[in-house]
Amino acid sequence: MAIAFRRIRKVFDDGTVALDDFDLGFENGEFIVFLGPSGSGKSTACRILAGLETPSKGAVEVDGNDITSLAPRQRGMSMVFQHYALYPHKTVYENIAYPLRVRGENEGEIERAVREVADMLGIADLFRRRPKQLSGGEAQRVAVARALVWKPEICLMDEPLSNLDALLRLQTRAELKRIHRELQKTFVFVTHDQEEAMSLGTRIAVLDRGRLIQFDTPQAIYHRPATRFVAEFIGRPAMNTIDGTIEAGNFRAGELTVPMPDPMPGPAVLGIRPEQIELVDQPGPDVVTMTLDIKEVVEPDTLLTLKRGEVSVVVRTLRQVSGLQTGDDVHVRLPASALHTFASQDGRRLS
Ligand code: ADP
Repeated sequence: MAIAFRRIRKVFDDGTVALDDFDLGFENGEFIVFLGPSGSGKSTACRILAGLETPSKGAVEVDGNDITSLAPRQRGMSMVFQHYALYPHKTVYENIAYPLRVRGENEGEIERAVREVADMLGIADLFRRRPKQLSGGEAQRVAVARALVWKPEICLMDEPLSNLDALLRLQTRAELKRIHRELQKTFVFVTHDQEEAMSLGTRIAVLDRGRLIQFDTPQAIYHRPATRFVAEFIGRPAMNTIDGTIEAGNFRAGELTVPMPDPMPGPAVLGIRPEQIELVDQPGPDVVTMTLDIKEVVEPDTLLTLKRGEVSVVVRTLRQVSGLQTGDDVHVRLPASALHTFASQDGRRLS
């Protein structure tokens, strides 16, 4: 089953433009992540796919059929929300079984399907409890189980892990990955957490202010971000971006000069990831000497904030730098292969 958003625009009654010219297509069986800051339109896109919102313009297609005016129930999709609502008076078992009961499945089939999904999520020993006897993490898993029990072709999840504490979030994330592999259905997952997106997505749609900025594999988004916004949004600590000018084969920003192999003269933004800046022992022709401003040890890494004039960069290194102190000279190399350039005006990738 192929899913397509065709040039969707969504304007709410108060005039807020939540999505604009949102055009995106993907194949059956993918794990698609909608990633972006709060308010970028991720939930709106997800709700439009589910049929919970109607686009102001454009269409949603499944296998080439326009489903824009189909009711949610007719779409064969299930959805898990951040604020999932379990039926408080039903047991865990009955909560999970509910979608199958609505469809009139027989008791034997219901039991088999409920067990299977509960085993996948490690919640089979909770069957007799009621929602108020569950921890937040357990309740979230029950909500996921209820969404998956009838094996919908498409499962939509809107920030489903955001109520979980950090460790449980990591565990549930790994489980979702495994379940996706086992079920081989399409998952659409909304998050503002770039690490979660990188870990889960077969492809990630990055949104900013209602627009689709980039849609690609996690690797491509990390290695070839389409804009400065994507570059800064993906990866922690964020990619260093430096405003300057390219002239005579160099990028210059204040006292910083970096050779540019493929120069396009004019104002530009230089980008380099903190983990790709190399610490070297000696000054040299392609080496920049900077001053250590802040050192943060985040085992096993160390983060160094270095300055030269007005320019400041963060370096992430695994090297032992216990001898370094604020004010010391630090020699770094910015390898040409690790440099990104973006247009100053609109942030578009230049090379
Ligand atoms: P995200 O999921 O990325 O946080 P949303 O899709 O929820 O973003 O919202 C996108 C924009 O639309 C935001 O500016 C939000 O305030 C606005 N919005 C969402 N729902 C409504 C609504 N029902 N009425 C008016 N504005 C809304």
